[in-house]
Amino acid sequence: SGQFSQPIGQLANASGQLQSGVASAGRIFELLRAVEQEPDPADPVRPGALRGEVQFRDVSFRYVPEKPLIDGFSLRVAPGSTVAVVGPTGAGKSTLGNLLMRFYDIDGGAILLDGHDIGAMNREDLRSRTGMVLQDTWLFAGTIADNIAYGRAGATRDDVIEAARATCLDPFIRTLPQGYDTELDSEASGISAGEKQLITLARAFVADPVLLLLDEATSSVDTRTELLVQQGMAALRAGRTTFVIAHRLSTIRHADLIIVMRDGGIAEQGGHDELIRADGVYAGLIRAQAGNPREAPADPRPAPRMP
Ligand code: ADP
Repeated sequence: SGQFSQPIGQLANASGQLQSGVASAGRIFELLRAVEQEPDPADPVRPGALRGEVQFRDVSFRYVPEKPLIDGFSLRVAPGSTVAVVGPTGAGKSTLGNLLMRFYDIDGGAILLDGHDIGAMNREDLRSRTGMVLQDTWLFAGTIADNIAYGRAGATRDDVIEAARATCLDPFIRTLPQGYDTELDSEASGISAGEKQLITLARAFVADPVLLLLDEATSSVDTRTELLVQQGMAALRAGRTTFVIAHRLSTIRHADLIIVMRDGGIAEQGGHDELIRADGVYAGLIRAQAGNPREAPADPRPAPRMP
């Protein structure tokens, strides 16, 4: 059966409505009713402020009984660090995000957030702590300020401006006659792809999540905007535990940890220099891209779905 109903895929495909690129996973799921497997726990753990330590402990998972995918997956991610997830299409990169957000429940092992089993938390609580920025940006008809403020219920104009400054969007907004009150149509037809990406970064910044799931855009924008998007992403990541499905070598190189996935498991993990020395899969990927000034995707094919 080729017809999967993957929540992340649903988000990306819900035509004309939600095309992803959204700030807080919790806010999205107020709009989109995902199919849930298990009810939330009757007496959920409700952690207070989180530092953002993530642990996968001997996790196993399969979408369909016939096909085990993830088996014995273990990983500890220090609070505030950035993990670049790389690997070919189908390797399981998106699946990691699906499990972390409990779009699917694991079959064995545990996923812990600051030591709390995420299976013991309410999904809404878990998702409200996570910002997602997917490949395709999603903006709605309204002002730029509205689009940024959407990241968090009750966000003020000051919050919006602070977020736009932090994510390199503010200088662009100042070039517009109506500034933050510029009206966008649902296609945001008046602005460029890179500017749309910056707006979704600002939206995620407003949400101020402790975790981030990013799918780096592969679509090329002009070099100057590209640089701003990179800077905006770096600002957004600062202090937050980030999983990024990385397509750009610069992002991968600067990550605290690189996870090279293959067939649902970790083929290699480590820092850039370490993996180059190991001369394995990662070193091969890097060699394949050497000398490409535009930094083509590390993933040979663009990822169709994400986180
Ligand atoms: P990546 O993000 O690295 O491209 P995915 O995590 O999307 O990889 O997919 C890993 C594997 O799981 C692939 O073989 C894919 O076909 C399969 N898969 C993904 N989503 C589903 C689903 N909802 N149901 C069944 N199989 C799925």
